[in-house]
Amino acid sequence: MPEPLRILLVEDEPAIADAVVWSLGQEGFQVAWASTIADGLARLSDGIRLVLLDVGLPDGSGLDACREIRRRHPALPVVFLSARGSETDKVVGLEIGGDDYVVKPFSPRELVARVRARLRDRSAGEPAPMDAPEARIWNPCRETEFERDPAGRRFRFRGAELVLTPAETRILENLVAQPGRILSRSELLERALGEDSPSLERTIDAHMKTLRSKLRDIAPDADPIETRRGFGYAARRSA
Ligand code: CA
Repeated sequence: MPEPLRILLVEDEPAIADAVVWSLGQEGFQVAWASTIADGLARLSDGIRLVLLDVGLPDGSGLDACREIRRRHPALPVVFLSARGSETDKVVGLEIGGDDYVVKPFSPRELVARVRARLRDRSAGEPAPMDAPEARIWNPCRETEFERDPAGRRFRFRGAELVLTPAETRILENLVAQPGRILSRSELLERALGEDSPSLERTIDAHMKTLRSKLRDIAPDADPIETRRGFGYAARRSA
């Protein structure tokens, strides 16, 4: 039997927590439940593969908790659970590094589907042990300065590995798949985040900003992504 995947649930309403623990448990996941941000952060160990995070918590906002989780584990998927379904909350949640957003009340089936989708994004992105031969093989991405690992979910730029959030990874994947082609924000939103609301387009700009700053950390002079102001982005073709 493979080890069950561990998920951290930070939720202060016991009825919702019970339902989540039960439905994910039915699917073979192991859920650690915390009812406060402090407790959640304390349980945030390396064994956790995904975080389900309520927005309104007794000791603060899940949005702030997400920033802290991002700081400690940049690539760990975070899915918000919230009663607030307004686009503004959704934008804020995605901008500060959340990977998905499930609005309460949600069906167990919807929740399980979202969890599986976000784990799929991530599953091939687990760092390979450094002594494994495959950890040393990187494939150049056609016509760009990026390289990918054989599983295709980790990127290197000019020889340095990028530590990306799942959303940044999906955006970059879409750009390098068609070097030189400008993808509009709405195309990127749909392909990378599975959203199609025009009001969410600025979340793409926010992800691009963090992606760019990670690229600049590697090479301050590099500008491998072209911006078409007010429209979209493209992976620049290398010379
Ligand atoms: Ca709550």
